[in-house]
Amino acid sequence: MSEEAFVTLATSDSYAKGAMVLGQSLRNHHTNRKLVALVGPHVTDCCIEALNTIFDEVCVVNVLDSGDTANLALMKRPDLGVTLTKLHCWTLTQYSKCVFMDADTMVLSNIDELYEREELSAAPDPGWPDCFNSGVFVFRPSNETHDKLLTFCSENGSFDGGDQGVLNSYFSTWATADISKHLPFIYNLSSIAIYSYLPAFKQYGHNAKVVHFLGQVKPWSYSYDTKKGEVKGSVSQQSAHMHPDYLLLWWQLYTKSVAPLLKSAYRDEPFS
Ligand code: UDP
Ligand code: MN
Repeated sequence: MSEEAFVTLATSDSYAKGAMVLGQSLRNHHTNRKLVALVGPHVTDCCIEALNTIFDEVCVVNVLDSGDTANLALMKRPDLGVTLTKLHCWTLTQYSKCVFMDADTMVLSNIDELYEREELSAAPDPGWPDCFNSGVFVFRPSNETHDKLLTFCSENGSFDGGDQGVLNSYFSTWATADISKHLPFIYNLSSIAIYSYLPAFKQYGHNAKVVHFLGQVKPWSYSYDTKKGEVKGSVSQQSAHMHPDYLLLWWQLYTKSVAPLLKSAYRDEPFS
């Protein structure tokens, strides 16, 4: 039987640091699946080295030289570069089944049970629950599906400019066809949802297994005072959508397990 893997993506050093925290969180909760990071060509060697210590496999993906269909899609839709890089996960055919996770997610417990699910399983998006959120999804690598997705992408574009629009249009029966493909919300809990339905969060939040720092402001947009153990950053930003406990947890993981992997000169550079 071929193996199964968690897959994430980073096209910049900032997202790469997010990927490191995610990978480390999966390790801390003793996953027995492989960990794979797809990285864009702009991620620096220092980050690739650090990723290599956490992940089993780090694949540098340059969509520009990854085949005709990809090139064609990119020529028609240059804005979809990151999206096409994400879709590259379907080419990981050395694995029979994978769980994709955004680099801005972090696990709070073991989630290996997700491999009991089929393609395409995902949790509802908090903004439009008939769409799935593409920050966490179960899929089956297949070159055929990859080609179809790229063709679909170049012909139809993306209604939201990103991978979530493409994937929802392609897997268009997700909302109605098969309830087993609806992951419980606790596998992709975003801070936005916490604040829009606080009583539900108080009732069910302790069951959360994956947090997703969805939105423009990311954990690495803040800084951290290691002496005080406090997250620094503009309060107005922080109170916007970021849950303070999860944000602190992200920074504690980063400080303890990720920062030591980065060269000191580099470690202290502000994130871009
Ligand atoms: N991503 C990336 N570089 C970028 C933007 C996005 O590598 O410049 C990847 C990364 O894995 C990220 C995912 O694509 O988690 C989706 O983007 P993001 O999480 O920023 O979107 P959101 O979840 O906030 O809608
Ligand atoms: Mn995300």
